[in-house]
Amino acid sequence: MSRRLFSRASKHIVLSLLSVAIIGWLACANANADVGVNTNVDVGDSGIPEVTQVVSSHVVQSAPIESAQHCLVASVGVHSVLVRPTSMLFVAAKATGGGYFSWWKLLLIVVTYLVWVKSADWVNQDVVKIEKEAELNAVTWNVVGVLVMLAGFFAAISIPMFWIGYPLMLIATLAPLLFYWIVRKGKLKESQVLRRKLNPKKYENESSEQLTQDLGVAMSINAAGESDSDRKAALIKARRSSGFVDFKELLHQGMLKRADLIQIDYTQTQAAPRLFVDGTWHALPNMDRAKGDALLFSLKSVAGLDPEERRKKQAGDFSLKSEIGKANLHVTSKGVKAGERVRVTYVQSKDILTLPNLGMFPSMAKSFVGGLNRPGICIVSAPPTHGLTATWQGMLVTVDRLTRDCIVAMDDQETESSIENITPKEFGSDDTAAAFLKKTLNAQPDAIAVPRVPSPEFMDLLSLEANSQQRSVWMRVQAFSASEALLKTYALAGNRGDFREAVKYVTCQRLVRRLCDHCKTEVPVPPKTIQKLGGDPSKIKTLSKQWQLPPPEQRVDENGNPIEFPPCGVCGGIGYIGRIGVFEMIKVNDAIRAALKKTPKVAAIEAAAKESKAKKTMQSSAYQLVLMGVTSIQEVQNVLNKK
Ligand SMILES: [Zn+2]
Repeated sequence: MSRRLFSRASKHIVLSLLSVAIIGWLACANANADVGVNTNVDVGDSGIPEVTQVVSSHVVQSAPIESAQHCLVASVGVHSVLVRPTSMLFVAAKATGGGYFSWWKLLLIVVTYLVWVKSADWVNQDVVKIEKEAELNAVTWNVVGVLVMLAGFFAAISIPMFWIGYPLMLIATLAPLLFYWIVRKGKLKESQVLRRKLNPKKYENESSEQLTQDLGVAMSINAAGESDSDRKAALIKARRSSGFVDFKELLHQGMLKRADLIQIDYTQTQAAPRLFVDGTWHALPNMDRAKGDALLFSLKSVAGLDPEERRKKQAGDFSLKSEIGKANLHVTSKGVKAGERVRVTYVQSKDILTLPNLGMFPSMAKSFVGGLNRPGICIVSAPPTHGLTATWQGMLVTVDRLTRDCIVAMDDQETESSIENITPKEFGSDDTAAAFLKKTLNAQPDAIAVPRVPSPEFMDLLSLEANSQQRSVWMRVQAFSASEALLKTYALAGNRGDFREAVKYVTCQRLVRRLCDHCKTEVPVPPKTIQKLGGDPSKIKTLSKQWQLPPPEQRVDENGNPIEFPPCGVCGGIGYIGRIGVFEMIKVNDAIRAALKKTPKVAAIEAAAKESKAKKTMQSSAYQLVLMGVTSIQEVQNVLNKK
């Protein structure tokens, strides 16, 4: 209400200002009918240009006006009169020297002004109506509209050339309206709530015809099926279930929170859905079995699975489009001991990032990539779900594959190693893989990528090639640490001496969640903590922390009314968004080779690496990220302590 008042007041102010301006300037112009067009600014005694004088009278000097006047006369096309350049609103008779109005110019200005009043009124009423849903500020829009119009108006009455001044006023009238219209259209497109609010009738009629299945989130689903009619039939079947609305809501939740995966575990009595977001599970409220089953009927139907089959393994795909965006989904279901487990994976076409983009610090990346491009064996590793595929692909795009001949030796199941400029070579069975590799090596490739080592003979061949033929060999293995990865690969070798000689670098990684930049908070920490993290306490005084709901006593205002804390719009209230890799790396030296030979155990390798300073630890990378505010200390502790 106050905003409406404000706007009314502002309009009155403008009206009054406008009237005062016109009257004042009329008087002024009449009094100065003979004044000139020259707008040289006087420089006063102080040396400061006396601009104020110019603004108030529009005139500074009255002498050399002839040429300008002629020019203006020509431009207006009125030859019999002399244009008084105080403002081009005036046309003065040459003979009398007295000023009077060019009425049609004044009329144009008045009409334009009335148009503005109307449009400003509409903008005001509209913005007040939708400001909450559209997150627009009515005061700002009104003030900007008034100021722009004022500027345009003064341009029209002060600029000596009417055809420059008036168009400026016209722009000042229409630009804010147009800008508001564009912003409003964008907001409408984004929000169904807003559309509903502005056009309740349309939705009222719709909802009276609406089926219960169409309630809830608006979502267009492209069900599984060979043909259009198959897909339509699958969707009709899914909509028959009373769980269709819950099904849509669950998918919507998943998209909203950027889940990689939704899992629903069915037991005798209930269904427990959970979201997997950036490597962490988030439980959703449990459903009773009937509700869960109804939802599952819809889910399985759109994915082309048999809803009645609860034991056998099934898989299918579908896609959807909603206000948030598009998604491709892969659904699997299978019977487990307790009942049934259903997974919906959001299939993402992720871009392949280079190692530094994945989070490897430049100093480590430089030395590791150097190793990758030289002869010898390099290994990347990570625990399950910690981004090994991304790092493997990141490694393959980071290595020099343009000036060198690179191949990838893989089985026919491998899907993650197809990178441009690396030629795929598929071996059949594991038994014949070594023979296949031998034949392939006749083509003299410079580098061989091996996503999985199929046999000891295969490994021995690779070690030999690395040692005697100066070839680079790249491998990946699942492991919790670089030393474990080294030992796991070592165990695959038949000729261990050759392997010890060939192996050069081993990395391991884990993923930590990135703090949401939109809602993270800074907390002061004692200098000791900064020091412990390897930072400089004189420069860093605070660390970033995940946003958390304040304690209950702080969630009420002074009157005891509850204060709402809406979840962050960027991360959905989780506090983290996306993940980044923290890496450790062992540069294999003679001390480690000796330890490998003597005591092939994690502890021995770790000790040798520490003693010979051959290892950059994951902890130091992670602490660096904490000091940079990329992640939180809690997240690092959580991730690094997990085994
Ligand atoms: Zn956030």
